Amino acid sequence: MKTILTGIRSNSVLTLGNYLGALLPMVRLANEHSKDSNVNIFVPDLHSIISDVDGDLRENTIRTLKYYLAAGLEINENVHIYRQSYVPAHSELCWILDCVATMGETSRMIQFKEKSKGQESCNVGIFNYPILMAADILLYDAEYIPLGEDQFQHIELARNIAIRFNNRFGEIFTVPAKTADQVKFMEVDNAIRIRDLLNPEKKMSKSTLAEGSKIMLDDDPSRAAKKIMSATTDSLGKVKFDMFNQPGISNLLQIEALVTNTPLQDVIATWNGETRYGELKTKVASSVSEMLTVFQSKMAGISDGDVYDLLAAGEKYANDVANKKLLEVQKAFHLR
Ligand code: ATP
Ligand code: MG
Repeated sequence: MKTILTGIRSNSVLTLGNYLGALLPMVRLANEHSKDSNVNIFVPDLHSIISDVDGDLRENTIRTLKYYLAAGLEINENVHIYRQSYVPAHSELCWILDCVATMGETSRMIQFKEKSKGQESCNVGIFNYPILMAADILLYDAEYIPLGEDQFQHIELARNIAIRFNNRFGEIFTVPAKTADQVKFMEVDNAIRIRDLLNPEKKMSKSTLAEGSKIMLDDDPSRAAKKIMSATTDSLGKVKFDMFNQPGISNLLQIEALVTNTPLQDVIATWNGETRYGELKTKVASSVSEMLTVFQSKMAGISDGDVYDLLAAGEKYANDVANKKLLEVQKAFHLR
């Protein structure tokens, strides 16, 4: 049985961009494949501590898992939910892979360059986390790792480490699929990029300080609606889906399509050529506030206990699988 593995850091409340661009597509893939594949959904809490955490990490983790459930994740015996720090084999394999990976290849990681840029002193975790990520993947023989495009280089690194390891010790790791096949698996032509509401040339990010730039999943629905009404558009005066020349308007069309689950082409056809931007904004504001109302009421219906029950089963499974793989690796190095 194939294994699909995905995770999202739980450093803070997520944005509408994270939800539409990451969470929802992952849930759709998980539901599509969990009949005949293992679907591992984990919260990489050890990855969280390479940067600041907003609030209490343990609580954030439980909330993130509730997001998956509220977004429609269907649970069956092939769906495994766990916290990374509750499976010690991740950290142990990370160290061993540190001794397989090279400084050269690890130093090339763009995320490292970006995240360390301008920092007076950067923690070693920011440099090392792609190796921990390789351990996260290789412990479970995961083939498909649906993640954002910013993570593709790290999947390539995991592939290279697995290939090098297998050449030296025999076929111990499943080599994850190539980037092109990962993209095919995700069934996306273009990664979804929800834009910043005030500066639509940029993507919406949870770390952006301006409140009006982003919609948080715990925003009061009426407040979220106001943010949409205040979104930056343009002075061209005619609705057209054109991310380059009319990114603000195009972003609203994109959001409308995703939150109402309507094909983008249909939304574009409805609004194309419309000259009153206010009407489009009113419609999108109402769709977003409706979506948030439903989502938040689903969140409220999921108890911490529901999540802990899933974690108990998931973490038992994860430790069983991961420890077995770790032992093979330890034996290869004559540690056992
Ligand atoms: P930060 O500002 O801390 O980098 P972020 O909002 O960019 O936060 P990440 O934690 O970097 O969020 O990314 C989590 C996931 O959400 C990733 O899979 C990423 O590709 C996706 N994602 C982030 N922002 C957007 C966006 N604006 N539109 C669509 N997907 C997004
Ligand atoms: Mg980011």
